Amino acid sequence: MTAQEIRKAYIKFFQDKNHAVINRARLVPENDPTTLFTGSGMQPLLPYLLGESHPDGNRLVDSQTCLRAQDIEEVGDNRHTTFFEMLGNWSLGDYFKQEQINWFFEFVTSVVGLDPNRIFVTCYSGDEELSIPKDIDSQSVWTKIFESKGIDAKTVDIGSEENGYLKGEQGGRIFFYKDKNWWCRAGSADKMPVGEPGGPDTEMFYLYPQIKHDTKYGSLCHPNCDCGRYIELGNSVFMEYKKTENGFDKLPKINVDYGGGLERIAAASLDDPDVFKISLLLPIVQKLESISHKKYDQYTNNMRVIADHLRGAVFLAVDGIVPSNKEQGYVMRRLLRRAIRFAFELGIEQNFLQDIVPVITSIYEPDFPEVSSQKDQLTEILLKEEKVFRQTLRKGVRELQKMADKGQLSGSDIFTLYDTYGFPSELSVEEALIQNYELSKNWQNEFNDKMSEQRQRSQTATKGTFKGGLGGQTLQHKKYHTATHLMYQALRDVLGDHVIQHGSNITEERLRFDFSHPEKMTDEQIKKVEEIVNEQINKDLVVTFEEHPTKEALEDMHVLGAFGDRYGDIVKIYRMQAKGLDKPFSLEICGGPHVDHTKQLSEEGKKFKIIKEESSSSGIRRIKAVLTI
Ligand code: ATP
Ligand code: MG
Repeated sequence: MTAQEIRKAYIKFFQDKNHAVINRARLVPENDPTTLFTGSGMQPLLPYLLGESHPDGNRLVDSQTCLRAQDIEEVGDNRHTTFFEMLGNWSLGDYFKQEQINWFFEFVTSVVGLDPNRIFVTCYSGDEELSIPKDIDSQSVWTKIFESKGIDAKTVDIGSEENGYLKGEQGGRIFFYKDKNWWCRAGSADKMPVGEPGGPDTEMFYLYPQIKHDTKYGSLCHPNCDCGRYIELGNSVFMEYKKTENGFDKLPKINVDYGGGLERIAAASLDDPDVFKISLLLPIVQKLESISHKKYDQYTNNMRVIADHLRGAVFLAVDGIVPSNKEQGYVMRRLLRRAIRFAFELGIEQNFLQDIVPVITSIYEPDFPEVSSQKDQLTEILLKEEKVFRQTLRKGVRELQKMADKGQLSGSDIFTLYDTYGFPSELSVEEALIQNYELSKNWQNEFNDKMSEQRQRSQTATKGTFKGGLGGQTLQHKKYHTATHLMYQALRDVLGDHVIQHGSNITEERLRFDFSHPEKMTDEQIKKVEEIVNEQINKDLVVTFEEHPTKEALEDMHVLGAFGDRYGDIVKIYRMQAKGLDKPFSLEICGGPHVDHTKQLSEEGKKFKIIKEESSSSGIRRIKAVLTI
C-alpha cells in the first residue's frame, strides 16, 4: 500500500469503529507558548485527555502532521524525519486495552498486511518502589492475539533500557521495560506531582531480519536497541493512574492515546526499513537524483537530509511560517539552509527549490487542500530564501578558499567570514573538512574571542557619542533617532544577527544608517523592515532609559550598540517596550535624546519608509529612510 492509502485506510478503519475524524492541528500550536511545534498527535488533545469534554465525542481519529526539530540530528538514518505524520486514535473514557490492542494489531496485519511473525511488543514492567503494578492486562491481550496466529508469545523481563543490551532477545515476543513504557508529562513516574495522570504504554516493533545487529549500540540486540533491526511503529498509552500523596490511584476516567508513524508503517508495508522509499518521500529523492546526477545509494545521507528538510519547510510554509531569525521562522530557515548546503555538497550549486518544491506540493495536494490553495505563495517564499542564502554561500565559499590558499584557516578567518558575509561558522568548518583545508587547532577559541570582542565593539555607543550627528535636538531629530533604533532591531530580525550598526547620521529630513550585511537587500526584506517598524510605532512603545554597568549591559543584557564605539564603566540604555509586555522590542546603548512614545512618529498620519538601500563600502550597506505621509 502507498502511504496515502494507509492514511486513508487507517481513518476509515477507526471511522467504522465509531470514531469522529478530526482535522490535523497546525504545526504551530495555538495558545501554547511553551512549545514551538506540534510534535505528536496527543499534544493538541491534551486538554481532553486531562478531562475536558471533546465536542466530537469520546472516540477520535486523525493523522497529525508533526515537526520535531529535536530530531534534526537523527535525520540521515532510515527512520527519523523532522516532519512526519502520526496516525492517532483516542478513547476519552471509552474503550480500553482489549479493544485498542486488538484493533491496532488487526489494522497493521489485516489491512496493511504486515507479517505477524515479525511483530514484537513491549509492555510496562511495573515499579516496585513506587508500587505501580506490572501491566499484565496488556500482556494477556497480546498473548491471546499471538496465540491466534500460532505464535508462542514468550515474555522477557528487561527493566531498564540499558539492561536490554545485556539481556538480549532470548527468543521473547513480549518484552517488559520499566521507564520506557511509562507515559507521563513529568518524564518518569518518580517525578510526577500529586494529581498528575500517567500510565503504562505498549509499543509495537517490526523486525527487519535482513538487518544485522551492530554491536556499536550494545552487545546484544533487543526491541529498544537503536541498531535499526527493530523499528518502533507505534505506541498505545493507557492513561489509567493518578499520582496521590501515598502512591498511585486508578483514574475515574481512563483514556487511550495511540500514536503511530505513518512513514514507518508505510515502509514496513514495503518490507524496507527506509522511510525515504515510501510514496511520500521517494519522488523527492528521485528528483534529487535526476538534478544532481548522483545515486541515492551513494549519497544516502545528503539526499535524506535534503528531502526531509525541504518537506518540513514546505509544511511550515503551508502553516503560515516565513523564514526569520526567531522561533519557528528560525527553524524553518535552518531547515532550508541546511538543505541547500547539503545539496551544494551534491554538486547542486544552482537554485533547485523551483524543481523540488512542486514535487512536494504535488505529493500532498490531493489530500491537503491547504497545500494546493497556497502552492504559489509558499513556493515564492521558499525560492526567495534560497536566493538570498545562495549568494551568501557562494561568496563565503569563495572567500574561504582564498583564505585557505594562504595557509591554515584560523578562527579569525572564520570570524571574518561570519562577520562580513553572514557565513555561519559551522558552514566554514564543514566546508573546510570537505575541501581538506587545514584548520588551526585552536580556531574555536580564537573565533569565540573575536565574537566577544565584536560584541564589545558593537555595543559601545557611549553617552553623548551616538554617531548621529545629533547637533540639533529638535523634535524632528528625536523622531528620526527613535526610528533609527526601531529600524536597527527590525534589520536584525529580518536579516540576522550579523547586522551591526557602522554609522548613523540624522537630519531633520531623514535618517541615514550604515550596517554590516554582505548583499543588497531584496524588496521583500525592505518591505518587511518597514512593516516591522510601522507596527512598533503603532504599538506606541514607551521609550525610557536606564543606566547599567557596561559589563552587565554587554554580557547579560545583550544590548545593541554600534561598531567601533568606546565607552566608560556605565552606559545609558534606551528601552523601547510595549505597555504590558515584559520584553522590550529594542534595547540599545545610546546617549539619546528620544521621543517618549513611538506613536509620536506617526503624527499627521506619517509612516516610516525606506527610500534608498545601497552599498556604502565592502560588506556595509547604507539605508536612508523618512517619516512621510
Ligand atoms: P523513536 O524512539 O524511534 O525516536 P519515539 O519514542 O520518539 O520514537 P513517539 O514519541 O512514541 O516516538 O512517537 C510515536 C510514533 O511516531 C513512533 O512510534 C514512530 O512511529 C513515530 N515517530 C516518532 N518520531 C519520528 C520521527 N522523527 N520520524 C518519523 N516517525 C517518527
Ligand atoms: Mg524519538
